[in-house]
Amino acid sequence: MPSAEERREELKAVYRQASTCTHCPQLASTRQTVVFGSGNADADLMFVGEAPGANEDKQGVPFVGQAGRLLEQLLGEIGLARADVFIANVLKCRPPGNRDPLPQEIDNCQDYLFRQLELIQPKVVCTLGNFSTKLLRADPSTGITKLHGREEVRVIGPRAVRLFPIYHPAAALYTRSLLDTLRADFARLPELLELDPPPQPEPEPEPELIVPEPELVVEIEAAEPAPAEEEEPAPSQLGLF
Ligand code: URA
Repeated sequence: MPSAEERREELKAVYRQASTCTHCPQLASTRQTVVFGSGNADADLMFVGEAPGANEDKQGVPFVGQAGRLLEQLLGEIGLARADVFIANVLKCRPPGNRDPLPQEIDNCQDYLFRQLELIQPKVVCTLGNFSTKLLRADPSTGITKLHGREEVRVIGPRAVRLFPIYHPAAALYTRSLLDTLRADFARLPELLELDPPPQPEPEPEPELIVPEPELVVEIEAAEPAPAEEEEPAPSQLGLF
C-alpha cells in the first residue's frame, strides 16, 4: 500500500502528463491552462465538478468563480475549507463558450479523473451535477434530480467509495429552492465522513511473472540513449496539492 507521500508524488506525475495533454484537439487549442485539480492530495472528501470555466481556465484552479465562492461558503458552513478537500472536474480543459462537455471529450479525459480517485483515496466522493454523477455511476440515463442527496457505495476502478451526488453550485446560484436543497444535502457530508470507509474489493491478483525460455531471450545490442529529463511545468498547480 503506497504511502500518502508516494501517492502524492504519483499524482504530480499524472498532473505533469495532463498539463500537456492534446487528446481533445479543440480544447487543447483554445485553453489557457489545464485545470487539473487542487486541494489536499490525501483528502477524505473529494468533489468532482463538470469542467473549468473562464476564471478557472485563466487561473488554473477549479471553482474560483461565482460557483466556487458558493462551494467555499457551503464548505465553511460544515466546518471545512478548500484545503481540507480535493476539488477536480470531469474535464480538465475549458470547453469554449462554456458549452457542455462532449461525450468524446469525457471519454478522452476520464482516465485522469480515475487516476486522481485511485491516488487520493477519498472516502466520500461528492459529484456536483449531472456530468460527474453520470460518469462515476456509469449510468448516463439517471440524472441529478433523482439522485441528489442519496449516498451509495460504488466501486470506481480498484476502490470502493461512498458516492454522494448533489446539485452543481452553479445551478443553485439563481434558484432559491435549489440552494436550499444543496445546503441540506451539504449538511449530510459530516455524517458521511464519520462513517468507516466502505469495505474494499479484493485487490486484483498480481499478473504471473512469465520467465522467457532461454532460446527466446534476444540480446539487445545498444541501449537507447536515455530520454532527456522532462522539464517540470511551472509549479503553479503542483503547489496546490
Ligand atoms: N464549474 C465546474 O464544474 N467546475 C469548475 O471548475 C468551475 C465551474
